[in-house]
Amino acid sequence: MAPTTLENAFSKDSPSTAVIVPSKPALAVSYQQLSADVNAFRQQLARAGVSVQSAVSIALPNTYEFIVSFIAASWQRAIAAPLNPAYKQSEFEFYIDDLSSAIALVPKGAFAKDTAAVRAARKYNAAIAECYYNGKEVMLDVKESGKLDGKGNVPVESAQPDDIALVLHTSGTTGRPKAVPLTHRNLLRTMKNIQATYQLNEKDRTMLVMPLFHVHGLLAGFLAPLASRGSVVVPLKFSASDFWKDFIEHRANWYTAVPTIHQILLKNPVPQPMPNIRFIRSCSSPLSPKVFHDLEKTFNAPVLEAYAMTEAAHQMTSNPLPPGKRIPGSVGIGQGVEIKILDDNGIEAPQGKEAEICIRGENVTKGYLNNPSANASSFHKDGFFRTGDQGKKDPDGYVIITGRIKELINKGGEKISPIELDNVIAQNPAVSEAVSFALEDEIYGQDVGVAVVVKDGQSLNAEALKTWMADRVAKFKLPKKIFFTNIMPKTATGKIQRRLVAEAMLKKEQ
Ligand code: ATP
Ligand code: MG
Repeated sequence: MAPTTLENAFSKDSPSTAVIVPSKPALAVSYQQLSADVNAFRQQLARAGVSVQSAVSIALPNTYEFIVSFIAASWQRAIAAPLNPAYKQSEFEFYIDDLSSAIALVPKGAFAKDTAAVRAARKYNAAIAECYYNGKEVMLDVKESGKLDGKGNVPVESAQPDDIALVLHTSGTTGRPKAVPLTHRNLLRTMKNIQATYQLNEKDRTMLVMPLFHVHGLLAGFLAPLASRGSVVVPLKFSASDFWKDFIEHRANWYTAVPTIHQILLKNPVPQPMPNIRFIRSCSSPLSPKVFHDLEKTFNAPVLEAYAMTEAAHQMTSNPLPPGKRIPGSVGIGQGVEIKILDDNGIEAPQGKEAEICIRGENVTKGYLNNPSANASSFHKDGFFRTGDQGKKDPDGYVIITGRIKELINKGGEKISPIELDNVIAQNPAVSEAVSFALEDEIYGQDVGVAVVVKDGQSLNAEALKTWMADRVAKFKLPKKIFFTNIMPKTATGKIQRRLVAEAMLKKEQ
């Protein structure tokens, strides 16, 4: 029978190693051991009083204890709510309050240190428990029982397909982060879609370098590989200097990451000889065709760009494995989902015309938590979810994202795609990174601003760049202002927030 919840999505008898933590000495956990550890942890959650569909905030980095507590919370019918462990107190407060978390899991020693997560949990009366691996099992050490009152002894429950397994917030790129509930059914659909897209199997080993507190790392880097009976190599975090060492030592054969990570890897020494890489997946931000080509050439592997969002439990489209065609600058085709380009009335745009990318599928959330206005405006009548991204399809149905609707630069009615400009400018040999954004303009309403990081040892000025661009883009798209900067502001997952880049550049100028 096909699995319907995360509990039966994992094989307990796969001969592969499930999880490898490349510390010294490396920890290698079999599937049998992982499910035993998860079951034991689930009993600890039950004993602590965590009841059906209550939120378990997991403020842990990428560790074995994160993995065990995440799976255990979902198996125990609770709601796993991973949080970036590097948040400041006010951020923890926002998320813990938004979810009315029953308990917050923090690393060993956090309680004594009275960390930001501990203080935030206490403020909202959530229980506080340290979570650590003692070399034999993963422990839940309840330090303060908060609203769980400590005596709770709830039964061990089995999750149902429509139970919420996970709540994550959107990245907050275009506004306040929105809480997205994802059910077991939603997650399993994405796991199957990812498995099918990349033909994942028990021989595959994923190098997981994305954080587990966002859908990218959680679904593509962790849940889908485990559902495929393969192995996941989990360093504490991405490190350019350790990446290849771990990759080779633990025989990884693919990885998924945001473009920023690919770019960092390209700037660092690459191993000789290069290990065999089955494919490289890129997702979450636009991958410029230049980086696509550099990656394929340097790492000698097909690069598959995918398109994803939290509301869709991650993946919506991807370029296919060879012999399928992959197109630089396109995010590929829908897998296990329906993708349509719709106008504001929900009418399909003619092929090749730009409009809003919309999606329907079993992976898509039923709606945000506590946000009726966003829910009312996010779905068309026939259930298609509005991504807020603008795009078009080529004649073969490949999706090309042209920008976020909220981020398009509207120059006197002329819509300019910032992604297009970024890609053009990135081809300039002196440019390491470029981000375009809207600038307020008295005449046009908006005009083009660009922030540029120049490569080490190169020089470039605004006039030279404009002249160079003039041969490549229409005159109205030329930037009104070019800002040179040493670092590009980014979110924890390496996303560019154009709005924040604009603010940072304008502030620097003052
Ligand atoms: P918020 O919804 O709070 O504004 P967010 O949309 O950045 O934040 P996520 O769910 O993390 O939150 O990101 C989804 C978005 O990321 C997509 O809607 C799209 O704009 C962008 N994205 C994902 N993959 C790609 C890609 N391959 N190319 C371009 N953009 C991408
Ligand atoms: Mg979004």
